[in-house]
Amino acid sequence: MKLKRFKAVNFRNIEECDINFSDGVNLLYGNNAEGKTNAIEGIYLFSRGKSFRAKEDSELIKFGNEGFSLFLEYEDSIGKNTLEYSLYKKERRRKKNGYRIDKVKDMIGSFKSVLFYPDDLLLVKGGPEERREFLNVAIGQCYPSYINYYASYKKALENRNCLLKFSSKGMYVDENELLSWSEYMAENASFIYLMRLEYLKKLEIYSSRIMKEISDGNEDMTLSYKSDIEEEIFEREKIKEEYKRIFRENLEKEKIVGVSLYGPHRDDISVNINGKSARSYSSQGQQRSIVLSLKLGEGEVSREIFGEYPVFLFDDVLSELDDKRKNYILSGIGQKQIIITSCENNDDIKIFENKIRVSGGKYSEKE
Ligand code: ATP
Ligand code: MG
Repeated sequence: MKLKRFKAVNFRNIEECDINFSDGVNLLYGNNAEGKTNAIEGIYLFSRGKSFRAKEDSELIKFGNEGFSLFLEYEDSIGKNTLEYSLYKKERRRKKNGYRIDKVKDMIGSFKSVLFYPDDLLLVKGGPEERREFLNVAIGQCYPSYINYYASYKKALENRNCLLKFSSKGMYVDENELLSWSEYMAENASFIYLMRLEYLKKLEIYSSRIMKEISDGNEDMTLSYKSDIEEEIFEREKIKEEYKRIFRENLEKEKIVGVSLYGPHRDDISVNINGKSARSYSSQGQQRSIVLSLKLGEGEVSREIFGEYPVFLFDDVLSELDDKRKNYILSGIGQKQIIITSCENNDDIKIFENKIRVSGGKYSEKE
């Protein structure tokens, strides 16, 4: 997958831009607060379905305007495609190849990219929600059905939580209604569990190999899925029965606390290095290597499934990485397209095919 062109109007500090990308390594460079991450944010929005850092879409509108629009041209194994996304007077519009897309989930999975930015270091030391989010975004780009199961699960969870809250306050709750939401939750939870488990198995193969290469063979990384199901199960019906049992056996406790205590919305990934928990014991350098391995591994899984690499977006992480890791990223390029942002021009690195200077929301290719 190759990003060819990105256009934006009234997006963040960009009044208007039209950037062309090369197939290899592209560098967006400029001082702080000039608009490097803004461009990455606009590009990645097409992969994730929403901004990775704004709570509300309205934050993305350039101050003093009523809306923004984004346009992307990319090439996949089938051919050239375009995607459009705009927000104007609270109305969102999305298009693929000129045809309207009503639901955001139908846009996700078209333009595939992997983002690595400084906050991703929280993937190791942060809470379980950071790691769940990583899984949700990665799996959602590969399997659109995952997004449906997740949305259905969340809806059931919200309804179930509402009833449990009533119950904890001594209000009347229809038992059958509670049971039917539990059943619906178990059905969708079983798909989520299975897809996460299978995705992690694939990811572990690639990420642990990359981790080993970065650490000169010193670090063995394992990934395991932490859920309420103690022994891994790979049969969907059995998983569903297990969730039904867990929800049933804990219902009385949940009625007292007023919230659902079990299910994939509480799950986690455990990352171990040489048998020890990375969350508790890893050094800063190891955390960087782990996140880099996970992100590059995410790209490898996508290539395994679709036969081509997603686009790699590295926002401001070159300075975080030592020369060895930097070289590792830049050496294994081959068929990969990489877009890197940096405050430096990186004249010492000869590998950049396209250098774009960023200044005040304007993007100019180096002559
Ligand atoms: P750094 O090197 O510090 O990461 P950057 O080049 O990545 O900098 P961006 O995050 O892209 O910087 O942000 C550039 C500027 O965009 C900031 O000065 C910010 O105030 C501005 N900005 C953010 N949102 C909006 C908005 N809605 N309208 C106008 N300007 C905005
Ligand atoms: Mg930035």
